[in-house]
Amino acid sequence: MHRETSSNAAQPGPIVVVESLVKRFGAFTALNDVNLRVGIGEKIVLCGPSGSGKSTLIRCINHIEKHDGGRIIVDGVELSNRLADINSVRSETGMVFQSFNLFPHLTVAENCMLAPMKVRGISQAEARDRALGLLRKVRIQDQADKYPAQLSGGQQQRVAIARALCMQPKIMLFDEPTSALDPEMVKEVLDTMVELARDGMTMVCVTHEMGFAREVADRVVFMDRGSIVEEADPETFFRAPRTERAKGFLNQII
Ligand code: ADP
Ligand code: MG
Repeated sequence: MHRETSSNAAQPGPIVVVESLVKRFGAFTALNDVNLRVGIGEKIVLCGPSGSGKSTLIRCINHIEKHDGGRIIVDGVELSNRLADINSVRSETGMVFQSFNLFPHLTVAENCMLAPMKVRGISQAEARDRALGLLRKVRIQDQADKYPAQLSGGQQQRVAIARALCMQPKIMLFDEPTSALDPEMVKEVLDTMVELARDGMTMVCVTHEMGFAREVADRVVFMDRGSIVEEADPETFFRAPRTERAKGFLNQII
């Protein structure tokens, strides 16, 4: 499944470019002049206080939210409001949410097969093969024919990851994937994400799991009040945050 990731040299340049991004909800400015580049294979951890705009930023990258100003370019395609562009970016970005968002009336395998069959047009047999392969990768293949409600939260979140991977995305976006989980299930999901990172997947992860950030992040991006306030490699960010806002945030979560 890990296609383009091995050919970094042949495909240089960022996979996501966010330039002067502005997002408003009515009179409220949720993102104000945000600039971010994500290189191929890069792992970014996005953190910051609640309400700082982290979810809004990754929802704009996936075009779940429309932006009001600036530019977003994903894999060379600028996100305008053209449906073709929206569909193309959606199929290249895998998104995993805090709430697992599995289809309750479909089995685990069917959850994983639906989009590849509908969007990529692959056969049912191929979709099932691919689904079982990725369910094996997240160590849950024995649950393939169960329904989501029969699984634990950690298992459901691993299904959500496998389901996203079945679309063979170029980038994975995670929005607090472990914050709805019971503590004993956090590790199994983080382990899956670490493995994905090791495989070379490009990832933007909103998470306050600082152990994960230290282990896999190339860059920690700290947001506050709709802006990127600070960016650094994890070692530098945790040891010597530059801004008072980042220091205050780290004091609260560590
Ligand atoms: P974070 O993920 O960092 O906690 P969000 O991106 O969810 O923050 O939200 C950023 C700000 O935008 C918050 O003040 C939030 O209340 C506001 N916001 C987010 N979504 C909406 C919406 N659909 N309508 C109005 N305000 C919103
Ligand atoms: Mg959020």
